[in-house]
Amino acid sequence: MNYYDNCTLCPRRCGVNRREAKGYCGMGDQLLAARAGLHFYEEPYISGESGSGTVFFSGCSLKCVFCQNWQISRDGFGKEISTDRLSEIFLEQQSRGALNINLVTGTHFTPSIAEALRKAKAGGLQIPVLWNSSAYEEVETLRMLEGLVDIWLPDFKTLDEGLAKKYYNAPDYPEAAKKALDYMVTVSPEPVFEGDLMVSGVNVRHLVMPGASADSKNVISYLYGTYKNRIWISIMNQYTPVTAQPYDKLNRKTTRREYEKVVNFAIDLGVTQAMIQEEGTAKDSFIPVFDGEGI
Ligand code: SF4
Repeated sequence: MNYYDNCTLCPRRCGVNRREAKGYCGMGDQLLAARAGLHFYEEPYISGESGSGTVFFSGCSLKCVFCQNWQISRDGFGKEISTDRLSEIFLEQQSRGALNINLVTGTHFTPSIAEALRKAKAGGLQIPVLWNSSAYEEVETLRMLEGLVDIWLPDFKTLDEGLAKKYYNAPDYPEAAKKALDYMVTVSPEPVFEGDLMVSGVNVRHLVMPGASADSKNVISYLYGTYKNRIWISIMNQYTPVTAQPYDKLNRKTTRREYEKVVNFAIDLGVTQAMIQEEGTAKDSFIPVFDGEGI
């Protein structure tokens, strides 16, 4: 079965034949990737000292209005590669000393990535594999990764359908993300660490958006209420407008007060397995340069 023939890989369910046309994600049936290299700015238990072996895929099925990686998500910058080349890239990352393979926004290429992972594992890939996604995913698509992914690093962007429509053009985001996360926790039911490094489990990321701390509190409350210590939560403050935004609130950074309100709420709730960010992380210098390196 060719999943790209009538594509329903993500909740957009475009139904297009990606050999001939592109769906909402902007991608055809050929793998496109924009950068592969070591990345040091993930959670410390993901990046460690040696770095996480990121592979950034081109295109995106969510396309947040404020995307910081717009060159790849919207403009589609990237190099066309085969699944054989992708499996080689994974092995190169391992040889470079990467602590894990970090697959960034690969939802719309899931069948090809799964094939490349199987080849790489047969060829000696041993480091953990990490799925770094928007959580706007179909459970049946995630099932293609069964036995191939060790760490799930999904965003959980919002529980507010109004914001989901405005910022992500996806009013169904909250329901889709809940189901995707539930699947991830089912297959990786507890965080496992070796020394200081996570080697298996689920780490959910939530970015506190300007003017939306009430929604952030709802998200934290949902995550902790549903999963307690079966997951880690990263509460992030790094929102930075990199282009002029259509909504006023998005033209500024999240304030320190807005962020602290959410962090204090999490502490009061009893959340202990959480990563918080220090001031000064909202800089565009943390955004990787997309130049095809490592591809
Ligand atoms: S992966 Fe792309 S083409 Fe397929 S359903 Fe999602 S947005 Fe549409």
